Amino acid sequence: MSDPLDDLYRDIILDHYRSPRGKKPLNRIDIATDGHNPSCGDELMLQVEMEDGTIKDIHVDCKGCAISVASASMLAEAIKGKPLDEAKRIAELVKRMLKGEDVEVPEEFEDLDALKGVRKFPVRIKCALLAWVTLIEGLTNYESGNNTKKTISTEEQKSE
Ligand code: ZN
Repeated sequence: MSDPLDDLYRDIILDHYRSPRGKKPLNRIDIATDGHNPSCGDELMLQVEMEDGTIKDIHVDCKGCAISVASASMLAEAIKGKPLDEAKRIAELVKRMLKGEDVEVPEEFEDLDALKGVRKFPVRIKCALLAWVTLIEGLTNYESGNNTKKTISTEEQKSE
């Protein structure tokens, strides 16, 4: 029953789970958003340091299942050094991918493709989504100048 593609996905996810990226505390916190996934109990703290409209650095601290931790780690790796617009675009892309749309993931972010494997396990989709919806919320608030710390919940995500 072993599908080689599934093994690859699993390896990438386990690698991020065992050595999560984005653990280093930031010099300055410009964006702080917490995320919460009640259906599994995953808790995420996400902080961003901005410089000239670019995500200079990102800190994620996720306490939860392997999928939520790995997804947050992938996010930290993918968006560090990216302009805000691009980071949002990537996050929206991953969100659409996790919701089952057939999206093309740019080669630069091929690790993110591994998250596609999660779609086969509907109860895990919210775990994988947590980091991305939290990031979108944080960046959107930052852009609108409404930068008070927010906590968001995956339960508030409408299923479009
Ligand atoms: Zn979870």
